[in-house]
Amino acid sequence: MTTTHADTATPADGGIPKAEPGKIVCNACPVLCQITEGRSGACDRYANAGGVLTRVDPLVLATRLVDEKGEVVPFLAKEPWDGRIVGDTPLPAAPTANEVFVTGVGSGTTYPDYKPAPFIVSARRDDVDLVTVVTEGIFSYCSFKVKIDTDRYIGPECAPVRSDGEVVGHVTTMEYGSQMLSLGGVHHLTGGSKREGRVTCDVMMHLGNKQAVELEVEDGAKLVVQAGHAPVINGVEEKRMRVGCGSATIGIFAQQWLGHVDEVIVVDDHITGVLTEHQAGRFLDMRPGGIRVIGRKSTPGRYFQVANPGSGWGGTDITDPLKIVKSIDTKEAWPGERVLMVSTTGEDYAYFVLDESLRLVPAEMPAAVRKVVDRIGENCEPALCTVLFMGGAGGSLRAGVTENPIALTRSIKDLLVDVTCGGAPAYVWPGGGIMVMTDVSRMPENSFGWVPTPAIVAPIEFTMRLADYAALGGHMDRVRPLREVIQTAKHRSLAWNPANPWPASVVP
Ligand code: SF4
Repeated sequence: MTTTHADTATPADGGIPKAEPGKIVCNACPVLCQITEGRSGACDRYANAGGVLTRVDPLVLATRLVDEKGEVVPFLAKEPWDGRIVGDTPLPAAPTANEVFVTGVGSGTTYPDYKPAPFIVSARRDDVDLVTVVTEGIFSYCSFKVKIDTDRYIGPECAPVRSDGEVVGHVTTMEYGSQMLSLGGVHHLTGGSKREGRVTCDVMMHLGNKQAVELEVEDGAKLVVQAGHAPVINGVEEKRMRVGCGSATIGIFAQQWLGHVDEVIVVDDHITGVLTEHQAGRFLDMRPGGIRVIGRKSTPGRYFQVANPGSGWGGTDITDPLKIVKSIDTKEAWPGERVLMVSTTGEDYAYFVLDESLRLVPAEMPAAVRKVVDRIGENCEPALCTVLFMGGAGGSLRAGVTENPIALTRSIKDLLVDVTCGGAPAYVWPGGGIMVMTDVSRMPENSFGWVPTPAIVAPIEFTMRLADYAALGGHMDRVRPLREVIQTAKHRSLAWNPANPWPASVVP
Protein backbone atom coordinates (compact mmCIF):
# COMPACT_ATOMS: atom_id res chain seq x y z
CA MET A 1 0.00 0.00 0.00
CA THR A 2 1.16 3.52 -0.74
CA THR A 3 1.12 5.71 2.31
CA THR A 4 1.25 9.44 2.07
CA HIS A 5 1.75 12.44 4.32
CA ALA A 6 0.35 10.66 7.33
CA ASP A 7 1.34 13.68 9.38
CA THR A 8 -1.39 15.71 7.72
CA ALA A 9 -4.06 13.04 7.44
CA THR A 10 -7.12 13.49 9.56
CA PRO A 11 -6.58 11.82 12.91
CA ALA A 12 -9.32 9.46 14.01
CA ASP A 13 -9.65 11.16 17.33
CA GLY A 14 -12.56 12.47 19.28
CA GLY A 15 -13.98 9.00 19.92
CA ILE A 16 -17.06 9.28 17.67
CA PRO A 17 -17.69 6.54 16.95
CA LYS A 18 -15.29 4.33 18.83
CA ALA A 19 -13.02 2.30 16.58
CA GLU A 20 -13.75 -1.39 16.49
CA PRO A 21 -10.89 -3.70 17.53
CA GLY A 22 -8.11 -3.72 14.89
CA LYS A 23 -9.64 -0.80 13.02
CA ILE A 24 -9.36 2.96 12.92
CA VAL A 25 -12.06 5.50 12.21
CA CYS A 26 -11.66 7.90 9.32
CA ASN A 27 -13.33 11.21 10.05
CA ALA A 28 -12.34 12.91 6.80
CA CYS A 29 -16.00 12.89 5.82
CA PRO A 30 -19.27 12.21 7.66
CA VAL A 31 -19.32 8.55 6.57
CA LEU A 32 -16.82 7.72 9.37
CA CYS A 33 -15.50 4.50 7.85
CA GLN A 34 -14.08 1.87 10.19
CA ILE A 35 -10.93 0.80 8.34
CA THR A 36 -9.06 -2.45 8.93
CA GLU A 37 -5.26 -2.37 8.78
CA GLY A 38 -4.02 -2.61 5.20
CA ARG A 39 -7.42 -1.64 3.77
CA SER A 40 -8.88 1.61 2.51
CA GLY A 41 -12.21 3.25 3.28
CA ALA A 42 -15.30 3.43 1.08
CA CYS A 43 -13.92 6.16 -1.18
CA ASP A 44 -10.44 4.61 -1.52
CA ARG A 45 -8.93 7.95 -0.55
CA TYR A 46 -7.95 7.11 3.04
CA ALA A 47 -6.41 3.92 4.34
CA ASN A 48 -5.23 2.30 7.54
CA ALA A 49 -1.45 2.11 7.15
CA GLY A 50 -0.01 0.46 10.23
CA GLY A 51 -2.70 1.93 12.42
CA VAL A 52 -2.26 5.43 10.99
CA LEU A 53 -4.97 7.08 8.94
CA THR A 54 -3.29 7.97 5.68
CA ARG A 55 -4.26 9.70 2.45
CA VAL A 56 -3.69 7.05 -0.21
CA ASP A 57 -2.87 9.18 -3.27
CA PRO A 58 0.32 11.20 -3.30
CA LEU A 59 0.20 14.97 -3.13
CA VAL A 60 0.55 16.40 -6.64
CA LEU A 61 3.21 19.04 -7.19
CA ALA A 62 3.13 20.94 -10.47
CA THR A 63 6.55 22.18 -11.50
CA ARG A 64 8.14 24.25 -14.20
CA LEU A 65 11.72 25.22 -14.91
CA VAL A 66 12.78 28.87 -14.79
CA ASP A 67 16.09 30.61 -15.38
CA GLU A 68 17.81 33.14 -13.14
CA LYS A 69 15.59 35.91 -14.47
CA GLY A 70 12.46 33.94 -13.70
CA GLU A 71 11.78 33.22 -17.38
CA VAL A 72 10.23 29.82 -18.10
CA VAL A 73 12.53 27.46 -19.99
CA PRO A 74 11.48 24.23 -21.75
CA PHE A 75 10.80 21.51 -19.24
CA LEU A 76 12.48 18.18 -19.91
CA ALA A 77 10.26 15.72 -18.14
CA LYS A 78 12.91 13.01 -18.15
CA GLU A 79 15.56 15.20 -16.56
CA PRO A 80 15.96 14.24 -12.89
CA TRP A 81 15.03 17.01 -10.51
CA ASP A 82 18.12 18.13 -8.67
CA GLY A 83 16.07 19.58 -5.86
CA ARG A 84 16.70 23.26 -6.49
CA ILE A 85 13.58 25.35 -6.13
CA VAL A 86 12.83 28.98 -6.74
CA GLY A 87 12.92 30.87 -3.48
CA ASP A 88 15.78 28.88 -2.01
CA THR A 89 18.07 30.94 0.18
CA PRO A 90 20.67 31.58 -1.00
CA LEU A 91 19.45 31.55 -4.58
CA PRO A 92 20.90 28.64 -6.52
CA ALA A 93 24.03 29.34 -8.44
CA ALA A 94 22.84 27.01 -11.18
CA PRO A 95 21.27 28.56 -14.28
CA THR A 96 17.84 27.05 -13.70
CA ALA A 97 15.64 26.07 -10.81
CA ASN A 98 12.27 24.41 -10.44
CA GLU A 99 9.30 26.49 -9.55
CA VAL A 100 6.91 24.32 -7.58
CA PHE A 101 3.22 24.74 -6.92
CA VAL A 102 1.54 22.49 -4.38
CA THR A 103 -1.87 21.52 -5.80
CA GLY A 104 -4.84 20.31 -3.82
CA VAL A 105 -4.84 16.98 -5.68
CA GLY A 106 -4.13 14.28 -3.12
CA SER A 107 -3.83 16.81 -0.30
CA GLY A 108 -6.70 15.67 1.93
CA THR A 109 -9.63 17.59 3.32
CA THR A 110 -10.31 19.74 6.33
CA TYR A 111 -13.53 17.93 7.26
CA PRO A 112 -15.11 18.40 9.82
CA ASP A 113 -13.67 21.79 9.10
CA TYR A 114 -12.46 22.93 12.48
CA LYS A 115 -8.94 22.00 11.34
CA PRO A 116 -6.54 24.09 9.27
CA ALA A 117 -6.10 23.08 5.65
CA PRO A 118 -3.76 20.08 5.12
CA PHE A 119 -1.04 22.23 3.54
CA ILE A 120 -0.42 25.91 4.13
CA VAL A 121 2.73 26.52 2.14
CA SER A 122 4.98 29.55 2.13
CA ALA A 123 7.23 30.39 -0.80
CA ARG A 124 9.19 33.39 -1.92
CA ARG A 125 8.97 34.81 -5.40
CA ASP A 126 10.40 38.06 -6.73
CA ASP A 127 11.25 39.07 -3.15
CA VAL A 128 7.63 38.68 -2.09
CA ASP A 129 6.57 36.20 0.59
CA LEU A 130 3.57 34.24 -0.59
CA VAL A 131 1.41 31.58 0.94
CA THR A 132 -0.80 28.96 -0.71
CA VAL A 133 -3.53 27.29 1.30
CA VAL A 134 -4.04 23.86 -0.23
CA THR A 135 -6.94 21.51 0.36
CA GLU A 136 -9.47 19.18 -1.19
CA GLY A 137 -13.00 20.49 -0.84
CA ILE A 138 -15.98 18.19 -0.34
CA PHE A 139 -18.62 19.71 -2.58
CA SER A 140 -22.28 18.74 -2.57
CA TYR A 141 -23.21 22.09 -4.09
CA CYS A 142 -21.45 21.61 -7.38
CA SER A 143 -22.21 20.80 -10.98
CA PHE A 144 -20.68 20.47 -14.41
CA LYS A 145 -21.63 22.71 -17.31
CA VAL A 146 -21.08 20.90 -20.59
CA LYS A 147 -20.80 22.73 -23.90
CA ILE A 148 -21.35 20.49 -26.92
CA ASP A 149 -20.32 22.07 -30.20
CA THR A 150 -23.12 21.01 -32.51
CA ASP A 151 -26.24 22.30 -34.21
CA ARG A 152 -27.83 18.91 -34.15
CA TYR A 153 -30.94 18.58 -32.07
CA ILE A 154 -30.20 16.80 -28.82
CA GLY A 155 -33.59 17.33 -27.16
CA PRO A 156 -35.92 20.04 -25.87
CA GLU A 157 -34.63 22.75 -23.55
CA CYS A 158 -35.15 21.74 -19.89
CA ALA A 159 -35.42 18.04 -20.86
CA PRO A 160 -34.07 15.64 -18.23
CA VAL A 161 -30.71 14.02 -19.01
CA ARG A 162 -30.28 10.45 -17.84
CA SER A 163 -27.40 8.13 -17.14
CA ASP A 164 -28.01 4.49 -16.38
CA GLY A 165 -31.71 5.31 -16.13
CA GLU A 166 -31.31 8.02 -13.49
CA VAL A 167 -31.85 11.74 -14.05
CA VAL A 168 -28.49 13.44 -13.57
CA GLY A 169 -29.16 16.88 -15.07
CA HIS A 170 -30.97 18.69 -17.86
CA VAL A 171 -30.60 20.41 -21.22
CA THR A 172 -30.12 24.11 -20.65
CA THR A 173 -30.09 27.21 -22.84
CA MET A 174 -28.55 26.66 -26.27
CA GLU A 175 -25.63 28.95 -27.03
CA TYR A 176 -24.08 30.11 -30.30
CA GLY A 177 -23.25 26.92 -32.20
CA SER A 178 -23.41 24.76 -29.09
CA GLN A 179 -25.89 22.73 -27.12
CA MET A 180 -25.53 23.04 -23.36
CA LEU A 181 -26.09 20.63 -20.48
CA SER A 182 -26.15 21.25 -16.76
CA LEU A 183 -25.24 18.04 -14.95
CA GLY A 184 -25.00 17.04 -11.34
CA GLY A 185 -25.87 19.49 -8.60
CA VAL A 186 -27.19 19.12 -5.12
CA HIS A 187 -30.74 18.31 -6.24
CA HIS A 188 -29.65 15.10 -7.99
CA LEU A 189 -26.84 14.29 -5.55
CA THR A 190 -28.93 14.42 -2.40
CA GLY A 191 -32.53 15.36 -3.23
CA GLY A 192 -33.63 12.13 -4.93
CA SER A 193 -33.18 8.44 -4.35
CA LYS A 194 -29.94 6.92 -3.09
CA ARG A 195 -29.32 5.41 -6.52
CA GLU A 196 -29.89 8.74 -8.26
CA GLY A 197 -27.28 10.31 -5.99
CA ARG A 198 -24.78 7.54 -6.59
CA VAL A 199 -25.20 7.56 -10.38
CA THR A 200 -25.01 11.37 -10.45
CA CYS A 201 -21.82 11.32 -8.40
CA ASP A 202 -20.34 8.73 -10.74
CA VAL A 203 -21.16 10.80 -13.85
CA MET A 204 -19.71 13.93 -12.28
CA MET A 205 -16.49 12.25 -11.26
CA HIS A 206 -15.99 10.76 -14.71
CA LEU A 207 -16.67 14.10 -16.41
CA GLY A 208 -14.28 15.91 -14.08
CA ASN A 209 -11.60 13.31 -14.67
CA LYS A 210 -11.92 13.82 -18.44
CA GLN A 211 -13.45 10.43 -19.07
CA ALA A 212 -16.25 9.62 -21.53
CA VAL A 213 -19.81 9.56 -20.20
CA GLU A 214 -22.86 8.12 -21.93
CA LEU A 215 -26.04 10.14 -21.54
CA GLU A 216 -29.57 10.07 -22.91
CA VAL A 217 -31.82 13.10 -23.27
CA GLU A 218 -35.52 12.47 -22.66
CA ASP A 219 -37.27 12.70 -26.06
CA GLY A 220 -33.90 13.48 -27.55
CA ALA A 221 -30.52 12.08 -28.47
CA LYS A 222 -28.08 9.57 -27.03
CA LEU A 223 -24.81 11.31 -26.32
CA VAL A 224 -21.23 10.47 -25.50
CA VAL A 225 -19.43 13.46 -24.01
CA GLN A 226 -15.82 13.79 -22.89
CA ALA A 227 -13.84 16.93 -22.12
CA GLY A 228 -11.66 17.91 -25.06
CA HIS A 229 -13.14 15.31 -27.42
CA ALA A 230 -15.70 15.49 -30.22
CA PRO A 231 -19.25 14.77 -29.09
CA VAL A 232 -20.92 11.61 -30.35
CA ILE A 233 -24.61 12.16 -31.08
CA ASN A 234 -26.78 9.12 -31.77
CA GLY A 235 -23.64 7.15 -32.61
CA VAL A 236 -22.24 9.74 -35.04
CA GLU A 237 -19.13 11.70 -34.13
CA GLU A 238 -19.62 15.43 -34.73
CA LYS A 239 -16.88 16.98 -36.84
CA ARG A 240 -17.55 20.67 -37.36
CA MET A 241 -18.89 23.53 -35.27
CA ARG A 242 -20.96 25.79 -37.53
CA VAL A 243 -19.30 28.91 -38.91
CA GLY A 244 -22.27 30.98 -37.70
CA CYS A 245 -26.04 31.09 -38.10
CA GLY A 246 -27.51 31.20 -41.61
CA SER A 247 -27.67 34.98 -41.55
CA ALA A 248 -24.07 35.30 -40.32
CA THR A 249 -22.90 32.87 -43.02
CA ILE A 250 -24.57 35.05 -45.65
CA GLY A 251 -22.87 38.13 -44.18
CA ILE A 252 -19.43 36.50 -44.09
CA PHE A 253 -19.44 35.05 -47.62
CA ALA A 254 -21.75 37.37 -49.63
CA GLN A 255 -18.89 39.21 -51.28
CA GLN A 256 -17.23 35.93 -52.30
CA TRP A 257 -20.44 34.61 -53.90
CA LEU A 258 -21.07 37.80 -55.87
CA GLY A 259 -20.74 37.15 -59.61
CA HIS A 260 -20.53 33.36 -59.22
CA VAL A 261 -24.07 32.55 -58.09
CA ASP A 262 -27.37 34.47 -58.21
CA GLU A 263 -29.01 33.24 -55.01
CA VAL A 264 -27.77 31.47 -51.88
CA ILE A 265 -29.98 29.95 -49.20
CA VAL A 266 -28.13 28.96 -46.03
CA VAL A 267 -30.24 26.41 -44.16
CA ASP A 268 -30.10 26.77 -40.39
CA ASP A 269 -32.31 25.73 -37.49
CA HIS A 270 -31.95 29.18 -35.98
CA ILE A 271 -31.93 31.71 -38.85
CA THR A 272 -32.07 30.57 -42.46
CA GLY A 273 -30.52 33.22 -44.69
CA VAL A 274 -31.56 34.20 -48.23
CA LEU A 275 -28.76 36.18 -49.88
CA THR A 276 -30.55 38.55 -52.30
CA GLU A 277 -33.22 39.46 -49.71
CA HIS A 278 -30.63 39.83 -46.95
CA GLN A 279 -29.10 43.19 -46.20
CA ALA A 280 -25.73 41.84 -47.40
CA GLY A 281 -27.18 41.06 -50.86
CA ARG A 282 -28.94 44.40 -51.06
CA PHE A 283 -25.77 46.20 -50.06
CA LEU A 284 -24.05 44.47 -53.01
CA ASP A 285 -26.93 45.52 -55.35
CA MET A 286 -27.83 41.90 -56.08
CA ARG A 287 -30.89 41.29 -58.21
CA PRO A 288 -33.75 39.74 -56.14
CA GLY A 289 -33.80 36.00 -56.80
CA GLY A 290 -37.52 35.52 -56.18
CA ILE A 291 -37.19 32.27 -54.26
CA ARG A 292 -39.37 32.26 -51.15
CA VAL A 293 -38.72 29.97 -48.20
CA ILE A 294 -41.15 28.75 -45.60
CA GLY A 295 -40.83 29.75 -41.94
CA ARG A 296 -41.40 32.95 -40.01
CA LYS A 297 -39.75 36.03 -41.44
CA SER A 298 -37.69 37.94 -38.89
CA THR A 299 -36.17 40.67 -41.02
CA PRO A 300 -35.52 40.68 -44.79
CA GLY A 301 -33.59 37.56 -45.81
CA ARG A 302 -33.68 36.07 -42.29
CA TYR A 303 -36.19 33.30 -41.48
CA PHE A 304 -36.94 31.43 -38.25
CA GLN A 305 -38.47 27.95 -38.03
CA VAL A 306 -38.04 26.78 -41.63
CA ALA A 307 -38.18 23.20 -40.31
CA ASN A 308 -38.13 21.21 -37.12
CA PRO A 309 -34.89 20.71 -35.19
CA GLY A 310 -33.08 17.52 -36.09
CA SER A 311 -29.90 15.94 -37.35
CA GLY A 312 -30.24 17.11 -40.95
CA TRP A 313 -29.03 20.27 -42.68
CA GLY A 314 -27.97 23.03 -40.27
CA GLY A 315 -29.50 21.37 -37.21
CA THR A 316 -32.91 21.01 -38.90
CA ASP A 317 -34.66 17.76 -39.76
CA ILE A 318 -34.28 18.61 -43.46
CA THR A 319 -32.47 16.16 -45.71
CA ASP A 320 -34.02 17.46 -48.96
CA PRO A 321 -33.36 21.25 -49.05
CA LEU A 322 -36.11 21.87 -51.61
CA LYS A 323 -38.65 21.12 -48.86
CA ILE A 324 -38.10 24.60 -47.44
CA VAL A 325 -38.81 26.34 -50.77
CA LYS A 326 -42.34 27.75 -50.48
CA SER A 327 -42.67 29.34 -53.91
CA ILE A 328 -40.82 30.95 -56.78
CA ASP A 329 -41.89 34.46 -57.72
CA THR A 330 -42.27 34.45 -61.50
CA LYS A 331 -41.92 38.23 -61.61
CA GLU A 332 -38.45 38.12 -60.05
CA ALA A 333 -36.88 34.72 -60.84
CA TRP A 334 -35.51 34.04 -64.31
CA PRO A 335 -34.50 31.03 -66.41
CA GLY A 336 -30.82 30.26 -65.90
CA GLU A 337 -30.77 31.69 -62.34
CA ARG A 338 -27.99 29.95 -60.39
CA VAL A 339 -28.98 28.89 -56.88
CA LEU A 340 -26.85 27.43 -54.08
CA MET A 341 -28.35 25.82 -50.99
CA VAL A 342 -25.86 25.08 -48.24
CA SER A 343 -25.74 24.28 -44.52
CA THR A 344 -23.94 26.35 -41.89
CA THR A 345 -21.03 23.90 -41.74
CA GLY A 346 -20.69 23.45 -45.51
CA GLU A 347 -21.19 19.70 -45.02
CA ASP A 348 -24.48 19.71 -46.91
CA TYR A 349 -24.93 21.58 -50.19
CA ALA A 350 -26.82 21.46 -53.47
CA TYR A 351 -26.58 23.56 -56.62
CA PHE A 352 -29.47 24.28 -59.00
CA VAL A 353 -30.16 26.23 -62.17
CA LEU A 354 -33.72 27.41 -62.91
CA ASP A 355 -35.07 26.00 -66.20
CA GLU A 356 -37.47 27.70 -68.62
CA SER A 357 -40.40 26.80 -66.34
CA LEU A 358 -38.55 28.30 -63.36
CA ARG A 359 -38.06 24.90 -61.74
CA LEU A 360 -34.99 24.25 -59.61
CA VAL A 361 -32.96 21.69 -61.59
CA PRO A 362 -29.85 20.11 -60.00
CA ALA A 363 -26.67 21.05 -61.84
CA GLU A 364 -22.94 20.63 -61.47
CA MET A 365 -21.51 23.13 -59.06
CA PRO A 366 -18.96 25.50 -60.65
CA ALA A 367 -15.48 25.46 -59.13
CA ALA A 368 -15.76 29.07 -57.94
CA VAL A 369 -18.91 28.25 -55.93
CA ARG A 370 -17.43 25.05 -54.54
CA LYS A 371 -14.45 27.04 -53.35
CA VAL A 372 -16.70 29.17 -51.13
CA VAL A 373 -18.57 26.08 -49.87
CA ASP A 374 -15.20 24.59 -48.96
CA ARG A 375 -14.27 27.81 -47.25
CA ILE A 376 -17.34 27.54 -45.01
CA GLY A 377 -15.98 24.18 -43.88
CA GLU A 378 -12.48 25.60 -43.51
CA ASN A 379 -13.85 28.28 -41.19
CA CYS A 380 -15.61 25.80 -38.93
CA GLU A 381 -13.72 24.95 -35.75
CA PRO A 382 -13.50 21.31 -34.68
CA ALA A 383 -16.54 20.29 -32.65
CA LEU A 384 -15.57 19.63 -29.03
CA CYS A 385 -17.09 18.99 -25.64
CA THR A 386 -16.01 21.47 -22.99
CA VAL A 387 -16.59 20.63 -19.33
CA LEU A 388 -16.55 23.28 -16.62
CA PHE A 389 -16.62 22.38 -12.95
CA MET A 390 -18.66 24.76 -10.83
CA GLY A 391 -18.58 24.57 -7.05
CA GLY A 392 -19.40 26.62 -4.00
CA ALA A 393 -16.33 27.10 -1.82
CA GLY A 394 -17.94 29.72 0.38
CA GLY A 395 -18.97 27.39 3.19
CA SER A 396 -17.16 25.65 6.00
CA LEU A 397 -14.16 24.90 3.78
CA ARG A 398 -13.10 28.48 4.51
CA ALA A 399 -12.45 27.58 8.14
CA GLY A 400 -9.46 25.60 6.93
CA VAL A 401 -8.02 28.86 5.63
CA THR A 402 -8.90 31.35 8.35
CA GLU A 403 -10.62 31.61 11.69
CA ASN A 404 -12.72 34.45 10.24
CA PRO A 405 -14.21 33.02 6.99
CA ILE A 406 -15.83 36.23 5.74
CA ALA A 407 -12.34 37.73 5.59
CA LEU A 408 -11.37 35.17 2.95
CA THR A 409 -14.50 35.89 0.91
CA ARG A 410 -13.79 39.62 1.04
CA SER A 411 -10.12 39.16 0.17
CA ILE A 412 -11.06 37.11 -2.89
CA LYS A 413 -13.52 39.78 -4.00
CA ASP A 414 -10.83 42.41 -3.43
CA LEU A 415 -8.59 40.37 -5.78
CA LEU A 416 -5.99 39.82 -3.06
CA VAL A 417 -6.34 36.05 -3.37
CA ASP A 418 -5.83 33.94 -6.48
CA VAL A 419 -8.13 30.92 -6.47
CA THR A 420 -7.09 27.86 -8.46
CA CYS A 421 -8.32 24.29 -8.76
CA GLY A 422 -5.42 21.90 -9.20
CA GLY A 423 -3.42 24.88 -10.43
CA ALA A 424 -6.00 25.74 -13.11
CA PRO A 425 -7.36 29.28 -13.00
CA ALA A 426 -10.78 29.53 -11.38
CA TYR A 427 -13.30 32.19 -12.34
CA VAL A 428 -14.96 33.48 -9.17
CA TRP A 429 -18.53 34.60 -9.72
CA PRO A 430 -19.44 38.10 -8.61
CA GLY A 431 -21.95 38.43 -5.80
CA GLY A 432 -22.15 36.44 -2.62
CA GLY A 433 -20.11 33.40 -1.67
CA ILE A 434 -17.07 31.91 -3.38
CA MET A 435 -18.58 30.30 -6.46
CA VAL A 436 -15.76 29.02 -8.63
CA MET A 437 -15.80 27.75 -12.19
CA THR A 438 -12.90 25.89 -13.80
CA ASP A 439 -12.19 24.20 -17.11
CA VAL A 440 -11.43 20.59 -16.15
CA SER A 441 -9.14 20.15 -19.17
CA ARG A 442 -6.67 22.54 -17.49
CA MET A 443 -6.58 20.47 -14.30
CA PRO A 444 -4.28 17.51 -13.61
CA GLU A 445 -5.50 14.02 -14.49
CA ASN A 446 -7.76 12.40 -11.91
CA SER A 447 -8.23 15.57 -9.92
CA PHE A 448 -11.70 14.59 -8.76
CA GLY A 449 -12.74 12.08 -6.16
CA TRP A 450 -15.93 11.35 -4.25
CA VAL A 451 -17.29 10.42 -0.89
CA PRO A 452 -20.39 8.30 -0.37
CA THR A 453 -22.44 11.04 1.35
CA PRO A 454 -22.57 11.51 -1.78
CA ALA A 455 -20.43 14.48 -2.73
CA ILE A 456 -17.60 15.37 -5.07
CA VAL A 457 -14.06 15.96 -3.84
CA ALA A 458 -12.14 18.59 -5.80
CA PRO A 459 -8.80 20.34 -5.28
CA ILE A 460 -8.74 24.03 -4.46
CA GLU A 461 -5.89 26.39 -3.63
CA PHE A 462 -5.84 29.97 -2.36
CA THR A 463 -2.63 31.92 -3.07
CA MET A 464 -1.91 35.33 -1.57
CA ARG A 465 0.79 37.44 0.05
CA LEU A 466 1.83 36.12 3.43
CA ALA A 467 1.08 39.53 4.96
CA ASP A 468 -2.45 39.44 3.56
CA TYR A 469 -2.89 35.94 4.94
CA ALA A 470 -1.94 37.14 8.40
CA ALA A 471 -4.31 40.08 8.04
CA LEU A 472 -7.30 37.88 7.19
CA GLY A 473 -6.79 35.77 10.31
CA GLY A 474 -4.98 32.86 8.63
CA HIS A 475 -3.63 29.87 10.51
CA MET A 476 -0.13 31.34 10.70
CA ASP A 477 1.12 28.68 13.09
CA ARG A 478 0.48 26.07 10.40
CA VAL A 479 2.45 27.79 7.64
CA ARG A 480 5.26 25.53 6.40
CA PRO A 481 8.01 26.39 3.93
CA LEU A 482 7.70 24.83 0.50
CA ARG A 483 11.04 23.10 0.99
CA GLU A 484 9.75 21.31 4.09
CA VAL A 485 6.57 20.15 2.33
CA ILE A 486 8.59 18.76 -0.56
CA GLN A 487 10.90 16.93 1.82
CA THR A 488 8.24 15.45 4.09
CA ALA A 489 5.11 14.81 2.05
CA LYS A 490 4.88 11.81 -0.21
CA HIS A 491 4.34 13.45 -3.56
CA ARG A 492 4.48 13.05 -7.29
CA SER A 493 5.56 15.78 -9.67
CA LEU A 494 4.04 16.64 -12.96
CA ALA A 495 4.86 19.29 -15.52
CA TRP A 496 3.03 22.57 -15.09
CA ASN A 497 0.36 23.09 -17.75
CA PRO A 498 1.86 26.01 -19.71
CA ALA A 499 -1.65 27.14 -20.70
CA ASN A 500 -2.29 28.12 -17.07
CA PRO A 501 -1.01 31.37 -15.56
CA TRP A 502 1.32 30.75 -12.65
CA PRO A 503 -0.87 31.43 -9.58
CA ALA A 504 1.56 33.63 -7.71
CA SER A 505 2.08 35.82 -10.77
CA VAL A 506 -1.42 37.32 -10.60
CA VAL A 507 -1.32 38.20 -6.90
CA PRO A 508 -0.88 41.99 -6.65
S1 SF4 B 1 -15.63 7.64 2.66
FE1 SF4 B 1 -15.20 9.33 4.07
S2 SF4 B 1 -14.79 8.34 6.02
FE2 SF4 B 1 -14.65 6.74 4.44
S3 SF4 B 1 -12.46 6.71 3.91
FE3 SF4 B 1 -13.44 8.12 2.49
S4 SF4 B 1 -13.20 10.12 3.45
FE4 SF4 B 1 -12.81 8.60 5.06
